[in-house]
Amino acid sequence: MAEGKFNEIHGWAAMEPGMKVEPWSYTPRPLGDRDIEIKIEYSGICGSDIHINKNDWGNSEYPQISGHEIVGKVVAKGPRVKHFELGDTVGVGGMCYACRQDDCRPCKRGLEQHCPKCAYIIGGRYPDGVRTHGGFAEAVRVNEYYASKIPAAIDPAYAPPLMCAGLTVFAPMVNKGVKRGDRVGIVGIGGLGHLAIQFAAALGAEVVAISHSPSKREQCMELGVTQFVDTSNREEAEALRKSLDFLFVCSTAGAEKYNEFITWMACESQIVILGLPSEPLKVYPGELVFSGTSISGSQIGGLSMTRKTLEFAAKHNIRPMIERFPIAKINEAMEHVESGKVRYRAVLEL
Ligand SMILES: [Zn+2]
Ligand SMILES: [Zn+2]
Repeated sequence: MAEGKFNEIHGWAAMEPGMKVEPWSYTPRPLGDRDIEIKIEYSGICGSDIHINKNDWGNSEYPQISGHEIVGKVVAKGPRVKHFELGDTVGVGGMCYACRQDDCRPCKRGLEQHCPKCAYIIGGRYPDGVRTHGGFAEAVRVNEYYASKIPAAIDPAYAPPLMCAGLTVFAPMVNKGVKRGDRVGIVGIGGLGHLAIQFAAALGAEVVAISHSPSKREQCMELGVTQFVDTSNREEAEALRKSLDFLFVCSTAGAEKYNEFITWMACESQIVILGLPSEPLKVYPGELVFSGTSISGSQIGGLSMTRKTLEFAAKHNIRPMIERFPIAKINEAMEHVESGKVRYRAVLEL
C-alpha cells in the first residue's frame, strides 16, 4: 500500500450546529490502490456547506469539515491509479463514492448522485461506515474516479465554483435539451445564476436574466444576456408573457412565485428548480395543462457530466466571478456568503 503525505489532515470544522468553524484534524482513510491524495489549494464555499454546518437538514454529525468545491494538486497516489500523475491539478465536487455496479440504474446512466449508496464528500459515509470530510482542509483523499483534471485554460482559483455551482446549472441544460435559439430565462442572479447565464449563452440560447435588483442589469449584459427583465417594474415583467422555452430558477424563490413563472412560459416549455423553496409549491394545475409547461428539478450531476462541464467552460471561456479569502478568514467568508453579500462565489485560498 502506498503512503500518503498527510497522516493527519488539519482543517476547519464545525464542532456543533452553527456557522462557526475552528481548527480540527482527523486521520484520513488509508490511501487505497485507486486513491489519490490532493493537497488543497482552493476551496469554494457553497450554500450547502453552511446548511450542513448549521444542521439545517437535520442529519449533520460533528465535528464536520465541509467544502465540496475542491481544487489542488495530486501529491500521492495508489499503485493502480490510471488517470493522474503527481503534480496534476485536479478538482473534486460533491461526491466521493457510488456503487458503480451494472445493476445500479443511476450509476449505469452516469447519474452517480442518485445512486442509493452515493456518499457525499460532506456529511456522508463510505459503505464501511467511515465519515467523509471535505475541502476546508489542507488535503483530501478520494478514489480517482471522483477527481477531474482542471483544464490548463482555467486558472485553478476560478475552478472550484465549477465543481458544484457550474455543474448544477450546466447538467440540466444538457439533460433537458437547451439548444441554439431557445429563449432561456434565468431567475436569481447570484452564485448559480451568473454561471447559468454564461453556460446558456455559450449553448447558443437567447438568455433573459430576470431579477428584482435593477442594479444587476449592467453586469448581466456583460455576462452575455440578450435581455434583462427587472421584475420590480410591472410592465417589464408583463412583457415576458408566454415567451420562454426554459426557466432555470436559481434563487430560493418563494413557492407562491411559481404561478407567475408559468405565465412567462411558451407552450411545451420547462421550468427547472435549482434553488430550493422551503415551502410546497402552490401551482394551479390548469396553468400547467393549458400551456403544456412542465416543472422539474435537478441535483448536481454525475462524474462524466462534471468533466464535460470543465471542458465546456474551458472552451467557451466561462468563469465564475469570485471573491477570494485567505483560509484564516474562513468564518468571515462564510458570513459573507450567508448574508448574500458575496459577488458571486467565495473561494478560500489555502
Ligand atoms: Zn454545492
Ligand atoms: Zn450505484
